[in-house]
Amino acid sequence: MSYIANNIRKIRETIPHGVELLCVSKFHPTQAIAEAYSVGERMFGESRVQELKEKTPLLPADIRWHFIGHLQTNKIRPLLPLVSMIESVDSVHLLEAINAEAARQNIVANVLLEVHVAKEQTKTGWQICELDQWIDKQEWKQYENINFKGLMGMATLTDDTSLIRQEFRQLRRLYELYKPLFACFDTLSMGMSDDYKIAIDEGSTLVRIGTDIFGERNYV
Ligand SMILES: *Cc1c(COP(=O)(O)O)cnc(C)c1O
Repeated sequence: MSYIANNIRKIRETIPHGVELLCVSKFHPTQAIAEAYSVGERMFGESRVQELKEKTPLLPADIRWHFIGHLQTNKIRPLLPLVSMIESVDSVHLLEAINAEAARQNIVANVLLEVHVAKEQTKTGWQICELDQWIDKQEWKQYENINFKGLMGMATLTDDTSLIRQEFRQLRRLYELYKPLFACFDTLSMGMSDDYKIAIDEGSTLVRIGTDIFGERNYV
């Protein structure tokens, strides 16, 4: 069994039924994705529009691609036809631009709202108070070409597992709070290679795993 297939087998053994696995393939070659595909994986995550544009034509059409990187508004047009979900929507400005472009393309875009729960300033996402206020104003109702599917978040990069747990718990709390407001809320995307077991404990419905499947990334 190949390195990638073996990694996936081990991860699949630890993920309960009902939790989805997103294979984060950014910076890895199409050959690696094809290997994961050959053992049944169908959901892959990428963080750069250019990389998606290069990879998608070379791989099977039934792959569901999730965009998980920082998105610039001028890249929305080429991105929308390629992905089944944008997980990293971190501002009203971006929502407006996605809605407008989705309307132009006559589609409804699936999105997750990315919430900032980590301690690092570098991590992107809505501040919780900012998101709360925006939800209270019910402004999402004006976005007819957006399907709000749930929340995404990243925990602090730390060895302090109780802090990680606390941050995931906070995300889960928000998710439960907002879920009744949105007809299609069914996804709480949290957990990466180093912390997905904690995330699953705390109610994740989708884990995003790169390194534990494909190995270290080569940033070039
Ligand atoms: C790169 C990335 C991942 C995967 O991280 P690993 O530690 O390699 O599993 C998950 N989520 C997001 C948003 C990422 O950018």
